[in-house]
Amino acid sequence: MISLVLNSYVKGNAVETLIIIYFLIQLSVSMIQKPCNKCRGGKGVYKRPYSGETLCRDCFLSSIEYKTRKTISKHSMLQHNDRVAVAVSGGKDSLSLLYVLKNIFETSRRTPPVAITIDEGIKYYRDESLEIVNRFCANLGVENKIVSYKELFGHDMDNAILERPTNNMVSSCSICGTFRRRAIDIAAEEVGANVVATGHNLDDQIQTFMINMISGDVTRIGWTSPQSVGSEFHTQRKIKPFCEIYEQELVFYALLRGIPFQTEHCPYMNESIRTQIREFINTLERERPGIKYNFYNSVSKISNNLNAFSHHIDSKKCATCGRIATSRICSVCKTLNILEGNRNNAE
Ligand code: SF4
Ligand code: ZN
Repeated sequence: MISLVLNSYVKGNAVETLIIIYFLIQLSVSMIQKPCNKCRGGKGVYKRPYSGETLCRDCFLSSIEYKTRKTISKHSMLQHNDRVAVAVSGGKDSLSLLYVLKNIFETSRRTPPVAITIDEGIKYYRDESLEIVNRFCANLGVENKIVSYKELFGHDMDNAILERPTNNMVSSCSICGTFRRRAIDIAAEEVGANVVATGHNLDDQIQTFMINMISGDVTRIGWTSPQSVGSEFHTQRKIKPFCEIYEQELVFYALLRGIPFQTEHCPYMNESIRTQIREFINTLERERPGIKYNFYNSVSKISNNLNAFSHHIDSKKCATCGRIATSRICSVCKTLNILEGNRNNAE
């Protein structure tokens, strides 16, 4: 039951989400009375549909933290002297990741992580999340570096949506994703990080794989690998320590830990096919628990093989901005040309 509620959270409606949070709390305390399968002493608060186990609060929290450590070590994501920047958006995944990494690094005496936040310039939506991130980082004692699309590219998302050509519609998420990857690189350079950790979870990995399959973008399929070698945009190593954890479990983790997160969704999110893919995969998982894991394993194998191939692709320097690119002009400059061209035509 609790997993059903968590599953519906990811459909993306803020009012629905608040109702769900209320039900979650009710369910957590009253409906699952079974003992924890792990410690045998605690009262169960979460039942894992794909494994059948019931976990108490402490065992559930430990299971997520243990899985994160295991993923980091399995994929050799970190070396001892790494300076890690965590890209945070104000959502449950990235703030939970910052929290978990800060604790892991403390116990292993590593340099603390630093947060980097990208301000896309989406009125109300991003303003709220920036506030959440600032407060969370201050409470955690973590430095937070904010960079904005406006200062880096001269456009914020709200303007880019108005300026994009209407005849050759570029989706909001495609503009935003291109800018975000570059903005994260720049912010990470500015804080001296050689590794960027993102909160991508198992569901994100599967969805991204399907989007790239549908759009025929074979190179990007390789980027979904946990051992990602990066892309034309990336100058730092990219890691995804939550890539083997279900999204619904991260929602529950953040709720149990009392991590504040933004429940409002981006006003432009429905332009992307991601929402439909997410609902499709969640329906399959409800009917066949564990199917996401099988899917994820296949995605990892395919993307790892593609990455092995992409090592042989020569990188160039963008003729406009001089950053690493796979073609003469990088994607950021191409996107800017589209926006500027359109703006000039309109003037
Ligand atoms: Fe950007 Fe799309 Fe995410 Fe909105 S939903 S923040 S436009 S990538
Ligand atoms: Zn460029």
